[in-house]
Amino acid sequence: MSEISVLGIFVADISFSGPKIPSIGETILGNKYNVGPGGKGCNQAIAIARLGGKVSFISKIGKDNYGKLALDTLKKNNISIENITQDENSQTGVAGILVDQNSGKNAINVITGAPSTLTIKEIDKHIAVLKKSKIFLTQLEIPKEVTLYCLKVAKENNSLTILNPAPASELKDYFSSIDYFTPNETEAEFYTGIKIKDANDAKEASKELLKMGLKQIIITLGEKGLFYNDGTKEIYMKADENIKAVDTTGAGDAFNGGLAYALSQNKPIEECLKIANRVGGLSTLKQGAGNAMPYKKDL
Ligand code: ADP
Repeated sequence: MSEISVLGIFVADISFSGPKIPSIGETILGNKYNVGPGGKGCNQAIAIARLGGKVSFISKIGKDNYGKLALDTLKKNNISIENITQDENSQTGVAGILVDQNSGKNAINVITGAPSTLTIKEIDKHIAVLKKSKIFLTQLEIPKEVTLYCLKVAKENNSLTILNPAPASELKDYFSSIDYFTPNETEAEFYTGIKIKDANDAKEASKELLKMGLKQIIITLGEKGLFYNDGTKEIYMKADENIKAVDTTGAGDAFNGGLAYALSQNKPIEECLKIANRVGGLSTLKQGAGNAMPYKKDL
């Protein structure tokens, strides 16, 4: 039985790189394209598996070519596919990513596809794995009622729960079922109204989140690192300054995967944060999302 279960989505990231992002009505000649695994849930599951964690991924895909890419990706990364619902009437998710090769800037259109129709009834077929997991990790890319239901079930069964609130949306009813809350700077601003530019702002935001009833807050700060607050302990940890980031897509996913893995190993919080910080940093050294997740040997 898996130690960690991740609920979330898979999408095929289809990226087109060229001299600019085309304007409306314009056709340009680009020079590189890539199709690779993405979706926050899938990226996080890959990060955990590559660190050596036993992980189950709970998701929904279509019966199409990208669905095959999803299954191949999961198998290749030693992630159980028993909890994937395959629906022949839905499409597997895709993200169309247009990249400006000079600035690295992008414009993205995500079609989540199959998981947007995921229901509690479908989840109940896989509830056993969730109930037995030591750690349950999820985000906000799955329909809300399903996410909330899974967090509650996980908590009732004494799992440690991590919610990466991305993309940010209203979730007051969730708070009592969340052990670790891991927003990035913009998500933390969404929940607190505090614009986060440095560790001090993050400290203020974390205090607000504690007041709302959340228990353990980790605000990720990109190349500035992270801020942790559980009401008694406050920790600011810098990011690895030796990292020369190539592509930061999926850094937050790597971070959350690293955190879940470290917590499953019963490590003290300082050590868990150090591992998550390192995994997040290492993921920026490669292009792409899922395929950029580091392995244990890279640590
Ligand atoms: P998200 O991808 O959700 O926006 P962040 O950008 O905050 O998340 O990144 C998550 C974590 O990844 C950071 O807390 C840090 O540990 C690591 N990280 C991100 N960018 C860099 C970077 N340029 N150099 C080193 N570490 C980084």
